[in-house]
Amino acid sequence: MVEKLLSAPAFCGAKLTIHLDRVCANWRKLADMTAPKARCAAVVKADAYGTGAAITAKALYDAGARTFFTAIPSEGITVREVCPDAEIYILGGLFHGRAGTYELHGLRPVLNSLEEIEEWRLFNLGRETALPAAIHIDTGMNRLGLTLDEAEELGTKRFEDVKPFLSLLMTHLSCADEPTHPLNALQLERFKKMRGFFPGVPASMANSAGVFLGEEYHMDIARPGIAVYGGNPIPERENPMQAVASIHAEVVQVRWVEEGHGIGYSASLTATKRSRIAVISAGYADGLHRLAGSSDEKDGAHFFVGGHFVPLAGRVSMDLIALDVTHVPEDLVRRGTLVEVLGDNVLVDDLAKHAHTISYELLTGLGRRYHRVYSDGSNQPEAMA
Ligand SMILES: *Cc1c(COP(=O)(O)O)cnc(C)c1O
Repeated sequence: MVEKLLSAPAFCGAKLTIHLDRVCANWRKLADMTAPKARCAAVVKADAYGTGAAITAKALYDAGARTFFTAIPSEGITVREVCPDAEIYILGGLFHGRAGTYELHGLRPVLNSLEEIEEWRLFNLGRETALPAAIHIDTGMNRLGLTLDEAEELGTKRFEDVKPFLSLLMTHLSCADEPTHPLNALQLERFKKMRGFFPGVPASMANSAGVFLGEEYHMDIARPGIAVYGGNPIPERENPMQAVASIHAEVVQVRWVEEGHGIGYSASLTATKRSRIAVISAGYADGLHRLAGSSDEKDGAHFFVGGHFVPLAGRVSMDLIALDVTHVPEDLVRRGTLVEVLGDNVLVDDLAKHAHTISYELLTGLGRRYHRVYSDGSNQPEAMA
């Protein structure tokens, strides 16, 4: 059992287990889908979607990943420490005046504008071996990247300027999670045309959802993120990925609430009958959004304990959440019992939906207060220690 304690279990109210075996299984599934024509990279930005970049990137490296994408240089440096010979791209681009940092740590900027390209070109002048970088072309996202006109002009008139350092041509899909959205095919067509202006340069287009759009989208390197971490890449279909993060929070009190009495802040939920309420030690400070709570006007999310789904009762507090456990046998929910807040029963996409958000935001916002455990699949998440 691989177990790394970043905070002692005895002092924590909830346990966050990161299943590294499932992270790797998800990545391998994506790598199998893109092989043999395309290589599969791994996006490990935002602390590897909340799972812990250093440990997760190392596990993915051991599983065979050799190309990583992060958002900012500090994240790239974290990955560099554990993966000395990996290719590491910085999606946020070349930050102004920071080329030396990229060189020092062997990071490759994704150059998102002509200005960044010029800064990198000048930084490379006079070098025998150019420092590799990607160029990002905007094919419809309208966020970062060269316009189609800029890219065409660069490729047709100044390809020799960038050729020495250009290791990857990249674009990003705007609507890949909606497979029938017309922008997908349009972006594909535009990117294929742009590739023609940069002959011989490897290309990358697909995020997680893009991998599921079909082989045409895989190009040379796929860049999945959320699917590696168990989020559903295509929300309208059944999730083909395995859940990677599970959270178990401890019951700190079980009490009865009489019919007609309010529960929690603002008494937003009124007990419609005499109810048994279990209070767990986790709240919005742990990334469990207030929008997942319930009131007389709306239902909230459900957690899972003793083989039963249990609804959130009233508002989510900073450190506490009340659950209606009236229908669960008393001996299955007591002080000290662990409740599944996220995992194989409480799915990340479902919980995110209740919080009016997406799996990405839920995972990256989980907070720093958990007793965090990394599992290789041989241990049981149902115990605190
Ligand atoms: C975050 C990101 C990805 C990964 O996207 P997922 O939807 O998480 O797979 C890929 N490419 C770029 C440019 C990104 O910003």
